Amino acid sequence: QSTTFKDGSPRKRLVILGTGWGAVSLLKKLDTTEYNVVVVSPRNYFLFTPLLTSTPVGTIDLKSIMEPIRHILKRKKGEVVYLEANATDIDPKNKHIKIVDNYKETRTLNYDYLVMCVGAESTTFHIPGVRENAIFIKEAYDSTRMKEKIFNNLERAAFLDIDDPKRKHLLTFVVVGGGPTGVEMAAELQDYVNESLCKWMPEISKDIQVKLVEGLPNILNMFDKNLIEYTQDFIKKSKIDLKLNTFVKGVDSDIITVEVNKEKQEIPYGVLVWATGIQPRDITRNLAQILSDVQTDRRGLLINEKLQLLGAESSIFAIGDCTFHGGLAPTAQVAYQEGLYLANIFKQLHKLDQLDWKSQLSSISERQLNDIKKQQEYIVKNKMPNFKYVYKGTLAYIGSERAIAELKIAGKDYQLRGSPFAFLFWKIVYLSMCVSIRNTLMVSMDWCKFYFFGRNSI
Ligand code: FAD
Ligand code: NAD
Repeated sequence: QSTTFKDGSPRKRLVILGTGWGAVSLLKKLDTTEYNVVVVSPRNYFLFTPLLTSTPVGTIDLKSIMEPIRHILKRKKGEVVYLEANATDIDPKNKHIKIVDNYKETRTLNYDYLVMCVGAESTTFHIPGVRENAIFIKEAYDSTRMKEKIFNNLERAAFLDIDDPKRKHLLTFVVVGGGPTGVEMAAELQDYVNESLCKWMPEISKDIQVKLVEGLPNILNMFDKNLIEYTQDFIKKSKIDLKLNTFVKGVDSDIITVEVNKEKQEIPYGVLVWATGIQPRDITRNLAQILSDVQTDRRGLLINEKLQLLGAESSIFAIGDCTFHGGLAPTAQVAYQEGLYLANIFKQLHKLDQLDWKSQLSSISERQLNDIKKQQEYIVKNKMPNFKYVYKGTLAYIGSERAIAELKIAGKDYQLRGSPFAFLFWKIVYLSMCVSIRNTLMVSMDWCKFYFFGRNSI
């Protein structure tokens, strides 16, 4: 797009880093004719993370929860440029960023406004051996890796004699972290064993053990006590070996070392899934370092109530998991609402910038200048309210077609637990959250396929 509008006013460059929940909700609502928009991300698709744990075991196809970013961008008016690259350096003073593509080609991009929505990465708490041996469940390639590892272990175990001790070892699937990711992953693995493998490989399925390891006295800490107790009982009944108060201290190629009541124990494993939460990415840490006078929290970027980055308020915004503010949890729900909010902020900023340009024209009279100032004040005061998060509730799948939910409707709290209705509700909510009709249809079709033909076994 041209760098100026028809009247000669400048069209500013807006660079968006990321193609996740925050970036996509911003892009969906943003008027892309008002800016030169450049999207930079190493991932040329959006990933619907709430259903990621259903993909390694074939309940849902991985492709069904991926939406090419270009499909999203082609529906926008005006031109939006997408560059497949990682942002590696940000210079907030001179307003430029360095980006590097997969082939190590680098480019420098100038920006007028920058939006950081780079998310976060899986954390290991520097526990030795985790990065080398465990599989995370955060990105699409994690799902592919886990699927391969599970299938390999199943076939290797089937090859061995029934009394070979290696067999049990290969068939022990350990999930570390009893947050929602770990619980949903363990539930999907146990469903896979109970519903699919028991038919395809009955001898193997009998020997599979799914273990869920949590360092604290209970799982799912963000939920109400009733729901936690219900889920823990339910999980135990579903044959998952739930190990509470069990803190992982080290990971070897086939054994994890845990601490229980200050005593060291060893748990052998065949597949290890790591889900102990998130930490800031390098790009986030680097930016915080540059603005270290005000960026003082190691958990994420500090922003104000208008989602402007502290230390670079006039040009950088940050949303989603890369931020830490207001006690908000790093969830898709938060990132999505922040993205929608920012789209409106950019609409108003465009108006302010246009007025600013007009005020600098040589032909402008004193009266017109006063008029412009009044308009600007009105916009700032009335059209740019602070961001207000509206919590709608939390859902989690707990296995065997059961879910739990905490909901906030018209200011009142409600709970759903375990009933078939809770599971149906879980499905409807996730279908409604899909970012495209294509995703909604594909996920619905996968659920139908699962119902009639079972899981995808390849
Ligand atoms: P992301 O969605 O992670 O997007 C970050 C983007 O930035 C990606 O496109 C990435 O490729 C890109 N990027 C990374 N580094 C760079 C760089 N250097 N330069 C440019 N771009 C970069 N939340 C819920 O509310 N409900 C749920 O049910 C739920 N389920 C989940 C299940 C799983 C398995 C996981 C892992 C998370 C789940 N979450 C859920 C959390 C939710 O996914 C995150 O809170 C959400 O993705 C945050 O959005 P974001 O835009 O900040 O980051
Ligand atoms: P989390 O931070 O919520 O949970 C991690 C768990 O790992 C904690 O319970 C912690 O005590 C445990 N842990 C940490 N170190 C350990 C160790 N060494 N040994 C044993 N246990 C250890 O992480 P998550 O589940 O990945 O979730 C990340 C974010 O994504 C959260 O904000 C969550 O709300 C969101 N999310 C939401 C949903 C949902 O709404 N259904 C699903 C997935 C993720």
